[in-house]
Order: sequence, then structure tokens, then C-alpha cells
Amino acid sequence: MIKTIDVELKGIQKKFGSNVVVEQFNLQVEQGECVSFLGPSGCGKTTTLNMIAGFLEPDQGELIIKGKKMNGVPSNKRDLGMVFQTYSLFPHMTIFENVAYGLKLRRTPKAEMQERVRKVLELVKLPHVADRYPKQLSGGQRQRIAIARALVTEPSLLLLDEPLSNLDAKLREELRDELKRLQQEIGLTTIFVTHDQEEALYLSNRIVVLDHGKVEQIGTPWEIYNRPASEFVHTFIGKSNRLSGKVEAMGSQTLSLVTEDGHPLRAAFKGIALQAGDAVSVYVRPERIGFAAESGENSSGSVNRVQGVVQLISFLGAYAECEVQVGRYSLNVRIPSDRQDREWSVGDSVLLEWKPEDVFVFPRKGHE
Ligand code: ATP
Repeated sequence: MIKTIDVELKGIQKKFGSNVVVEQFNLQVEQGECVSFLGPSGCGKTTTLNMIAGFLEPDQGELIIKGKKMNGVPSNKRDLGMVFQTYSLFPHMTIFENVAYGLKLRRTPKAEMQERVRKVLELVKLPHVADRYPKQLSGGQRQRIAIARALVTEPSLLLLDEPLSNLDAKLREELRDELKRLQQEIGLTTIFVTHDQEEALYLSNRIVVLDHGKVEQIGTPWEIYNRPASEFVHTFIGKSNRLSGKVEAMGSQTLSLVTEDGHPLRAAFKGIALQAGDAVSVYVRPERIGFAAESGENSSGSVNRVQGVVQLISFLGAYAECEVQVGRYSLNVRIPSDRQDREWSVGDSVLLEWKPEDVFVFPRKGHE
């Protein structure tokens, strides 16, 4: 099936003085897709969104929305809906007036305006607040109104800049579900800025991971989590244990490694270019490490096994989080309840195991 491309960034670059904050940004967003820009503070997410919105002009590159070149086109001519971190509702206007604002600017006839505001307030599940003022609503409700106001003009593109970060944890989760439902229901092409990896995984069809103005990887949440293109991507998304070591030998499917304190490990090859002798960072996620049922060596190499001692254990119902000392490394291990055949305690000696497929290996640059 041929997909329509709604937004295209071609070699976009932005400098502030001599500081390059967005470099060679290339992206195609398909119709109906939700794409998030994810990265640490200062990586250029908002600057890129502001260029798409028309608040900033790129120094280089082309921005195309719905097949039209948008460089130089003012923001209000780009047919966008926008929601920001702060609610940015007009305090002296009622909710109806706030939501109707964009329609009024477009000189929409009164009856149509009333109908569209009514519909969009229903969509965000706040049909009864039209006559109230923003200060009479909770933070979560105000953000829903901001979303309603962005949707009422039926824009061709929705831009969201950290729309959930001012809300407390519970509301954040609620509104996150709501956004996902709305995005799927309306099928609206959406670009979403966040520094919260869980939010990005949850809401996006694809994630663009940025670091220092550079695109590190573009992929589905699954690809970003399971096939990270770099050490930065792997460590930015989710928790991981890091060991340092060296590549001993390369097979066609697996690598043989040895950690700095002499533990032999195997890793499935995941496409990162390496060769024997390379110094590497080796990662395994806490939830991929298990307590081995049987003791003893694993001569076939089908699983990695290391002996350790429990240093810390927190039982959390569905799982237990442990810190296990293995040689010079302290490893975080997350054991689901159904894999705990007894209660473990600090000081217990345990045999840890994990599969070669669960090991991520990256060339070691600079650091220890
Ligand atoms: P955050 O999550 O903190 O909002 P971000 O990834 O959205 O971060 P940007 O706001 O895009 O980052 O900023 C990227 C870089 O550009 C930062 O180093 C910032 O200091 C710089 N920057 C942003 N706007 C300007 C400006 N108007 N003038 C000069 N430098 C700027």
C-alpha cells in the first residue's frame, strides 16, 4: 500500500550563532502517524518542532507539509494544531470562547462554530464546561481543553510540545491514554516532543532519538528498544547494566567476549561493526537476567552464567528488584514473582543467567 507523506524534513539545519543545534535532520512522517522527538534537554527537539510550526526558520534544508514547501510560510498559514507544556488558555475567555477562537479567526458561521465546539468538547470528554473559565478547571481538564482547541479547526498536522509534563503522575497517565485514543480515532498526523522515554514508547508509531542536534536513530518503539543503533540510544531508553570488556572472537551469529574481570560471555550479533580485540561496553537489561535453576558450567554457551551475591533486594509484589555483586560489577536484576521459587535475602549466593540475544555490545569510546 502506498502511504501518503504528510511532513518531510530534508537536510534541516539550525544554528544559533556558531552553535549548531539541529544538524542534517531528515524525516518523512506518514499520514496518520504519531512520531515523537525524544532526547535529553537541549538536544534540539523544541527547535525542530518550532521550525515545523513556523516560529523559527531553518538555515538550511527544506520543510514540506502536505506536498507544499513551507520555508518562509507564516505559522498561521500552515494549517496546524498546537499544544504546549503550559495550558496557554486565555484566562478572561470562557472555555467555549477559548475553543472557538481559531474558528472565529476563520470567520466560521455561528451555528457551525457551536456545533464544532460541542463535538470537540465531547471528544475530550468535557461536554459540560463550555461556560466555565480556565481557572475553574483542574490542570488535566485545562490541558484537555488546550487539545480541544488545537483539534477544532481540523488541522492537517498536530504538534505537541511536552503536553503532559506539567501534570501529576496519575493525570499524566490518564491524558496519555486519552491522547492515544484521540490520535487513533481521528487518525491525525502528530509530531510530539518529549524527554520521557516511556511516553514516547507508549504513544508513538515511530520515535526519532536525538542527541546534541543529531538524529541518532529513527524507528518503531520495538526497533528502538530491541535494535538500538548506538550506545546512547540503548542507555537513554530503559535501564541497563553496563560491563566493560573485550571481543575475543567473532562467529557468524555470535561474539565471544570477556569482561574486564575475566567472565566469558556470548552475545548475539546485532549488526554493530566490531572485530576481535575491540574494547567494548557490554549491556544487559535487568529484566533479561534470571536466577538460574541449576548450577554448574554452561559449556555449550547457549546461555551466559555468572555467580554473584545478593547485596540488596526489594520485593515489589509483581517482581523483586535485586542488586547482585558479580566480581567488580553490581548488577540490577528484576525477577518476576512467578520465577521466585523462594524468598531471597541479602548475602545469598545466586547464579545469574541471560541469553546471548539479550546482550548489547557497543565499541568503547573514551570512557573507562
Ligand atoms: P528541552 O527538553 O530542555 O526543552 P530541547 O531538546 O527542546 O530541550 P532546544 O530547546 O531545541 O532543546 O534547544 C537546543 C539548543 O539550542 C540548546 O542548547 C539551547 O540552549 C539552544 N537554543 C535554543 N533556542 C535558542 C535561542 N533562541 N538562542 C540561542 N540558543 C538557543
